[in-house]
Amino acid sequence: MVLLVDDQAMIGEAVRRALADDPNIDFHYCSNPQDAIALAIQIRPTVILQDLVMPGADGLALVREYRSHAATRDIPIIVLSTKEESTVKSLAFAAGANDYLVKLPDPIELVARVRYHSRSYLALQQRDEAYRALRESQQQLLDTNLVLQRLMNSDGLTGLSNRRHFDEYLELEWRRGMREQSQLSLLLIDVDFFKTFNDTFGHLEGDEALRKVAGAIRSSCSRQSDLPARYGGEEFALVLPGTSPGGARLVAEKLRRAVEDLQIAHELPNRGAWLTVSIGVATMTPQPGTTSRRLIEIADQGLYNAKHGGRNQVGAMKLVAEGH
Ligand code: GH3
Ligand code: MG
Ligand code: MG
Repeated sequence: MVLLVDDQAMIGEAVRRALADDPNIDFHYCSNPQDAIALAIQIRPTVILQDLVMPGADGLALVREYRSHAATRDIPIIVLSTKEESTVKSLAFAAGANDYLVKLPDPIELVARVRYHSRSYLALQQRDEAYRALRESQQQLLDTNLVLQRLMNSDGLTGLSNRRHFDEYLELEWRRGMREQSQLSLLLIDVDFFKTFNDTFGHLEGDEALRKVAGAIRSSCSRQSDLPARYGGEEFALVLPGTSPGGARLVAEKLRRAVEDLQIAHELPNRGAWLTVSIGVATMTPQPGTTSRRLIEIADQGLYNAKHGGRNQVGAMKLVAEGH
């Protein structure tokens, strides 16, 4: 697609004839330099043949203008000059021209140059398009990976973190606690009499209750670093980095009450009761030679005490038991 901009109709006709034999060349002629930019934007030439001297218009200024429009910025420009003159040549190249021909050029040379510049322009466009497509698919891949990551880390029923992510996160926070000598707290939360709940209301109602309990656990997290997770079955966990025993107990008590306030009807411990949870609390400042398993064991012991103390309560491991 060739656009010739030249005020002289005779030149227009001569160039048309020179290019006429090549069926691959589509020729457009513009005799009014004022229309050149708009026409170029409209027909999208792969090469522009630009006259330098025209009445009322400066060809070099026009070259600069092509270069300043997004749609015409990269189109190859062959400047047509009346004479072979090095100062004009250097001005033309400085303005952004790609090639320089003296009028009237030999038809064979003109066709060869038009072909060469068109091909390199089309190749450039294909490359830009390929890069754009590559960037787009890279972005899609990143987005998909993010979704996969989230799916891989979350529990299907409740949307909380799953056991795998809980294990990873607890280990990470354990090591941070070790480095910073900060307190790490853990709550283990177990739904009371849940087997009976399923037996009484059915498994689907049971699932719905677990989702509601999960919602209450999620709502009881106040810090960005708190991590609620489904530990397994009807057991949940809450990792509380940088949290003291007092702070952890407060969160646990608030959570216990929040589940009660869900007012999910249950038959146990008595008719007309609400579904409740028992919670075990543990806090440690990680020391060399200890592992995060110890924190889980202590929380589990607290949970055992809460169950045996009558359920619907927060339990901790008794201090005397620590030495045994
Ligand atoms: P306790 O108060 O001592 O904790 O008694 P419990 O009945 O809650 O404890 P148990 O461990 O005997 O029962 C847990 C029940 O949780 C049994 C199991 O069917 C149920 N459960 C575990 N996962 C799911 C689940 O994803 N959906 C439903 N609906 N039930 C589940
Ligand atoms: Mg259980
Ligand atoms: Mg239970």
